[in-house]
Formats: sequence, C-alpha cells, structure tokens
Amino acid sequence: MTSNEIRSQFLKFFESKAHHIVPSAPMVIKNDPTLMFTNAGMNQFKDIFLGNADAPYPRACDAQKCLRVSGKHNDLEEVGHDTYHHTMFEMLGNWSFGDYFKREAIAYGWEFLTEVMHIDKRNLYVTVFGGDAKDGLEMDTEAYNFWKEHIDESRILKGSKKDNFWEMGEQGPCGPCSEIHIDLRDEAEKKLVPGQELVNKDNPLVIEIWNLVFMQYNRLANGTLEPLKAKHIDTGMGFERLCMVMQGKKSNYDTDVFQPLIQHIARLAGRTYGQENQADIAMRVIADHLRAVSFSIADGQLPGNAKAGYVIRRILRRAVRYGYTFLGFKEPFMNTLVDTLVSQMGGQYPELVKQQQLIQRIILEEEQSFLKTLAGGIKRFDDYIASHATGNNKTIDGAFAFELFDTYGFPVDLTQLMAAAQGWTVDMEGFQQGLTEQKNRSRAAATVENDDWVELMPNVNQEFIGYDELTAEIHITRYRHVKVKDKEFYHLVFDRTPFYGESGGQVGDQGTLTHPAGDMVPVINTKKENNLIIHIVSKLPEHLDQPYKAEVDKCRRIAIQCNHSATHLLHKALRNVLGTHVEQKGSSVDDQRLRFDFSHFAKLTHEEIREVEKQVNIDIRRAIALEEHRAMPIDEARKLGAMALFGEKYGDKVRVVKFGDSVEFCGGTHIDNTGHIGSFRIVSEGAVAAGMRRIEAVTGAAAETYNNNLQDQLDALRELLKSPKDLLAAVQRLQDDNAALRAEVEKYQKEQANAMKQEFARQLEQSPLLVRRMHSDLSQLKDAMLALATQYPDMAVVLGSVCAGKPALLVALGKNRVDAGLNAGAIVRAAGKEIQGGGGGQPAYATAGGKNPDGLDAALHVAEEMLK
Ligand code: ATP
Ligand code: MG
Repeated sequence: MTSNEIRSQFLKFFESKAHHIVPSAPMVIKNDPTLMFTNAGMNQFKDIFLGNADAPYPRACDAQKCLRVSGKHNDLEEVGHDTYHHTMFEMLGNWSFGDYFKREAIAYGWEFLTEVMHIDKRNLYVTVFGGDAKDGLEMDTEAYNFWKEHIDESRILKGSKKDNFWEMGEQGPCGPCSEIHIDLRDEAEKKLVPGQELVNKDNPLVIEIWNLVFMQYNRLANGTLEPLKAKHIDTGMGFERLCMVMQGKKSNYDTDVFQPLIQHIARLAGRTYGQENQADIAMRVIADHLRAVSFSIADGQLPGNAKAGYVIRRILRRAVRYGYTFLGFKEPFMNTLVDTLVSQMGGQYPELVKQQQLIQRIILEEEQSFLKTLAGGIKRFDDYIASHATGNNKTIDGAFAFELFDTYGFPVDLTQLMAAAQGWTVDMEGFQQGLTEQKNRSRAAATVENDDWVELMPNVNQEFIGYDELTAEIHITRYRHVKVKDKEFYHLVFDRTPFYGESGGQVGDQGTLTHPAGDMVPVINTKKENNLIIHIVSKLPEHLDQPYKAEVDKCRRIAIQCNHSATHLLHKALRNVLGTHVEQKGSSVDDQRLRFDFSHFAKLTHEEIREVEKQVNIDIRRAIALEEHRAMPIDEARKLGAMALFGEKYGDKVRVVKFGDSVEFCGGTHIDNTGHIGSFRIVSEGAVAAGMRRIEAVTGAAAETYNNNLQDQLDALRELLKSPKDLLAAVQRLQDDNAALRAEVEKYQKEQANAMKQEFARQLEQSPLLVRRMHSDLSQLKDAMLALATQYPDMAVVLGSVCAGKPALLVALGKNRVDAGLNAGAIVRAAGKEIQGGGGGQPAYATAGGKNPDGLDAALHVAEEMLK
C-alpha cells in the first residue's frame, strides 16, 4: 500500500464509523499564547475540550501536520539519529466530543489495525494507565477490561503517569491514555527477548504507533484534577510509522514518504544511502528538516530572528550543517530538493504546489547567509583550539560550545565531532547548563501566570456581536487573575461582546465597561485565545454579577476598519498591477496605519506604486458598499472567487467580505462603504525576505496628515528658494552652483597649500624645528607635510589651529627624527590633553582634534618642549 492509500484508508474507515473528515489545520498556530506549532491532532479542537465552543459534529477524524520542535514536545535532537521521530510528521486521529468513550475507541483502533490494515495481532501490545498515588488516581481498569475483549492479557501492560497519562500543557484537559505498540523485530530476536520487555524502552523496532487518550479531567492551576463535564476521545497515530509497518520496513525513512527525498539527496552527494552511518544520519536529517521548513514557509512562517521564526531558522541550519560536514555540501543545496518534496506531497497539500517558488527562494537565501555564518563559526572554533592549546587540558568549555550552538547553529554533536578530530572533548555538562539557563531565561521573559477561571455563569457560550454593534449590555461569565512579568491584570469573558479580539492581523478593540452605579473599567485590549475573546482590564469590575454596558472606542475602531478594508483593496490592486502570483503573506492593521506583506520577486517601480495607489483610490471614490456573508459554505465562497490565505484555519462555513471585485475570506471588521476610507497613500515599500515585499500605507485623516506634511515641506522649500517658478530646476541649479563652487574652493585650497609648503620649506632651510599657530584647516596639509618630511629628514613641525571653534594639532617628523626615537603620535597625544582632545597616527605624522580652543597655545608649548 502506498502512503497515500494508507492515509485515505484511515479516513475512509472512520468516515464509515460516522466521523466527519476535517482538513489538517495549519502547522503554525496563531491565537494561542501557549503554543507556537501544532504538536498533536487535538490542537485544533482545543476550544471544544476546554468547553469554550460547541463541537460542530460529535465525531471527527483527520490527518494533521504536526511539528515537535519546541516546548513540551521537542524531538529535534533525536531526529535523524533514530529512524522513527520526525520534526514534522502527520498524525492520524479520530475524535469523539462527548459522544463515544473508551469501549468504542479501543474497538475502532483494534479493528482498523487488525482488520483493515491486517496487522498481525501477535506483533501488537497495548498499555493502560497503572494509576498514580500523587494524583490520587486508580489504575484505568475500564480500559483494561475493554482491551481484554480483543487481546490476550499477557499483552496488556500497565504504564506509569509518564507514558500513560496525557496532558495538553501545565493546565487544562487531560486523562489516562492507552498506547498501541508494535514489535517489528525478526522472529529469532523475538524468541530471545519477549516484546513485553521492550515496550516503551526506546527500542527502534518496538515502538508506539497509536495513542488513545481518554480526556476526563481538567488540571487546575494548583495542580489538582477535577472531572470534566463531558468526556472526550482524542487519538493520535504516527502516519509515517504506520507506513513503515504496512510497507514491511524497519525505518520510517525507508517508506515511500521519505525515499524520493533520500534518493535525491544521495544523488546530489554522490553517495549511496545505507552504506555509512554518519552520512545516513545526515541524509535523514536533511530529508526530515526540508519537510518541516517547507511546510512552515507554506503556512506563512518564515525563518527569522525571534520566536517561531527562529525555531524554523535553527531547523534549517541544523540540516545545512549536517550536509556540510558529512556530505560535503559546501554550496546551497536544500532549495534544489523542494521539487521532489512537492511532487511527493503536493497532491495532499496543495499549499506546497502554489508556493513552490517562494519556498525555494527563501530556503536558498537562508542557506547562503548561513553558509557565511558557518564559515565564521568554524573559524571561531579553530581560533579557540589554537588559543587554548596550552597544557594538557583538551576540553572545550561548555559555554563556548553553547555559543557555537546558539549563535552559529552548531548542533553540539557536530561540535563534539570537530573536537574529536583534533583530540579534544566538549564539556557537555557546561553545555547543558547553558541550554537550561537559556530556557529559564526565555521562560522568565515570558512568565505569564494564569490563575484558574472563576465561573460566574457556567455553560454560556460567547457571542461576538461587534460586526453590528459597538455598545451592548453584557454579563461577565467568567474571569481570571493574570500576572505578566510583575503586572497584574484580569481577563474577562462576556456572554456577548462588541469587542473585536486581536486576530487576522487586526488589533484588538479598546473601550470601557460601565455600571449604572458609576463603576467604570477601561478595557485595555482584547485578545483571542483560540476562539475565546478575552477582555483585558487592570481592575476587576465591582459588580461582577450584574450587567455592564460595554462600549468600544468608536473613533479608534472606525480608523482600524478603514485600514482593514483598504488592505483588501490594496491586495486586489497589487494582483491587478503585478500579477496573480501576489499572495498575502501577512498583514497588520491598527488605527494608525496598515502593513501588508506579499510574495513578489522584485522591487516595485515608482510607476507600479503609483498605479496601485491610483486603483485603490478609484475603488474608494466608487463608494462600493460592503457585501458581507457571515456564514457561507466554504465551497460556495470558493466559487465566488474568494481569496483564502495559506496558513489560516477555515471551518465548513466561512465569512466572506466583498467590495466589488475584492472578495476575501476574512473575520475582521470592515467599513460599510469604501467611500468612508477617504483616501489612501503608500508611505513605504521594501523587502522583508527573498521573494517577499512589504507595503505600509495610511488612509483617511492619516493620509491627509501625511500629504499635508509633504506639502508643508515643499512650501518651506519653495520659500527658502524665494518662490521660483520651477522648483525642481531651482534645486538643480543650486546643486550645479554648489558643485562649481566646491571645485573652485578645492583649486584655491591646493594653491594655498602649495604656497604654504613653499613658505615652510624656506623656514626649514633656516631651522629644522617649526612651531606655528595657523588660521586654516590643517587637514588640507597632509600631502604637503609628507613631501616636506622627505625633503627635510631633520624636520620637526608642529602646527595648531582653531577652525570653526574647534582646536586641532598636527605633528610631522622627518626620518632622522623618527630614527632618533621621537614619535609624532605620542607627542600629539601628550599635547592634545591641553585642548581636551585625543588623536594619534604614525611615528612620522599624527593629528589630534580637541574641545578646548583656549588650550591651543599650551598644547603647542608642550609639543615644542618634547621636540627640543
Ligand atoms: P514517542 O514516545 O514515540 O515519542 P509520544 O508518546 O511522544 O511517542 P504521542 O504524543 O502520544 O507520542 O503522539 C501520538 C503518536 O504520534 C505516537 O504514537 C507516534 O506514533 C506519533 N509520533 C509522536 N511523536 C512523533 C514524532 N516525533 N515523529 C513521528 N511520529 C511521532
Ligand atoms: Mg515523544
């Protein structure tokens, strides 16, 4: 069975069990402060498990792109070294939202593996939760008994909290789980050691393939568990591992999911996969990381300097580093593999096909810049060895290994290898300490302490009414106390709210809550956590159980809306003017301005910018009314030509925002009519990354202010130039005059320097020591001084001047003086103290500038004394 067949069999099986097939959510997560990347199939259903949203269907299944490179689930360092952990992988899952529970979950899992996939039951083992005294939990006998109906008891193993109790994070829904493991060893080995003994023992051939989680508790902030009202099923099976089993392989990399890439890499490197361990690891690392990086870029997360972007950059660098060291790739190569990846996975993930060119360019650019950094890192390493190679200590400091890791992206195992090649070792304890300290630092920087929610009106779902209303009477349904760094806040949730929570690039609303008795609480900001709208306030309302009037700051909201609607018009105009390869890659809209990032490969010309601006302004003047569809079936929206964004999660019903030909999937708030935008001005255009541009623009009153400022500057300029008829010609004339004058001045300065040189020569004929206070700029005299010094090897000249209020010194010495031990630099430094200055130069010629013109005579005196 090919991997594509296996995936569709899985979905088909669960569809036949009344599960709704949902698409994979993006791998990069937007509205979740606790998570950067999707690390399990359940992430996209978090709101349902948390009780913040109703399930749209009682059962679901999918194949979800996951990335495990940060936070609670981080497999990065394993990847490539073992054969069954990836950074990016697909997780097959089935869910029950308060519908079926353990019995069916176990039966379905078993039926799929043994009757659809026809996996030999004699190779399967299962685990159940064995209980935990600290949490006061008994063993999961329910699961045990259901398993007994399918499998011999000798194959049901009891596991610890570590393996058999699944938690989403520090807080939140959790529960016991039951894993299915497979034994892929040869018969002979199985006879020697029974599979039971190898389950959860890191044996690469006895591995977990499926985890069935029984969500039945909620972990509170104080660590205790409370039962969930509705119990849920959440399962996850490693797709690549299942493919390995079904294709009779012993490594995920030997399946058709990875082989095309591995073979392509082997070809590029002129190697054969499977011949040499280090080269094999490198090929696996590269194949794996290429997927992770490409899928992230397709989801809109580019490599960068911070947060998620930095994680992606580090993954890419790790791959380049392995290729460089073990496969001899000294030039960019990863970008050339994108082709193979796209032909392998583009069918299932069209976002790769559409953005192939962009992905390729961005990877190329990252590779180029990293190869430069890498050379720097290798040099740092060599210098380190050279400068520490005294004595017997041949240990590389852990802090230095950490610096290489952190700044240059050197995986520590490769630093160890480089060290070993020269007979050195790395202080791994010190390295680990650096790593831990960094983790603690970033944890401390991001410390947000959320207390548990206090429920005031349980079981009330929140309704967003801010498309239509900016004021409403609301009830507070729950609140929690939050500490961010040392500041205290409260989060409030309402039954209905006109406040827009920051998302889709649009900032959150601000406003007020007022109680008729006089209590007034400002809403500082509004954010979204998954789909929950959270109002941030710095003091708790006094009458928590009574209705408040919630009022959005209307002026601010309208300014935001103008910018948001203008962003849509801009997107359309860019596609008109530049071509349909233009895709939105990010946007940020607030009440001051809008920012729009998009894929395009060249700098926009002045004419293109003007044309885009013109088209947007035409749409504004056409006063196009907003046509809004709140809940359009997604297929219908696509038919309407609505532009969807990569990396966004859409449900079956979507909101469509239409202004004439501009049709977009969008959840943001908009102006009723484009006419309200008033006007639109692009204020900047530039590059953000390879193949990616950024435009910043202003609308309405801000555009007017921008235009006025430009006009004011022009007016001031015109006045300065005495109101010429043709301003440009006048400026041009000024520049021409200026150039002519400068040439003239230079000519005079040269003549003057020459005259001075002749005069100095006359004096030097009389006496080799010349000390003189001048009235001209000393910097013009260097050539003359050097020429004189050659002519008069005994000369010692000291000049001082005050030019435009600034004192300066110059000392020039002939060869004989220097040979006699005098040093112009030292003299200038000593004398320079008198003018509060500093300077220096060569033994034969030095200058200094200073701050105190009154000290010039004293400075000349000091210099003269030193020369006598
Ligand atoms: P393991 O112990 O093998 O790391 P896990 O306990 O971390 O697995 P879960 O979090 O339960 O795994 O994830 C569900 C399933 O996803 C696992 O049974 C496994 O098949 C698969 N899986 C987990 N991590 C990875 C990974 N890094 N690469 C590929 N598949 C994975
Ligand atoms: Mg794991």
